[in-house]
Amino acid sequence: MFLNIITNPNPVLRQVAKELKKEEIKSEKIQNLIRQMIPSMYLKDGVGLAAPQVGESLRIFIIAKEYTEKKEKDIILINPKWKRISPFTEWDNEGCLSVSDIYGSVRRYKKVRVTGLDENGQEVDIKASGFFARIIQHESDHLDGVLFIDKAKNLHTVYRE
Ligand code: ZN
Repeated sequence: MFLNIITNPNPVLRQVAKELKKEEIKSEKIQNLIRQMIPSMYLKDGVGLAAPQVGESLRIFIIAKEYTEKKEKDIILINPKWKRISPFTEWDNEGCLSVSDIYGSVRRYKKVRVTGLDENGQEVDIKASGFFARIIQHESDHLDGVLFIDKAKNLHTVYRE
């Protein structure tokens, strides 16, 4: 089943999402949500998707495997916390499934480390650089009610045919 992706403006996109308890992760509700977020992201050609974007104000996001370091599996992160591991930043273009047709340049840290839990409640500790690190920062912002348009410069509209 595909989940509906909500678009700006919507109050859910502006809420600080709720942390999950370890026991909650194994619940059918959360397992189903994660199971449905993955195809919903791919259907829209997304590189990542955060739970608030499907109307659930919970601290969960996923990243498509193609954009991860190992490209082996889609990454599911619950209660993620990231830190920069290098002071360097870079500007690059971003878009968002919840902000239709708008793109802009956002400054992000080049290298980050993110910790959290996976869909089984196991600890995850990942180092990321470049575009992978950018997605982690973009998706983490969603969990705090922040959209890339809040930080972007040179916002512009690109209509798809
Ligand atoms: Zn987004």
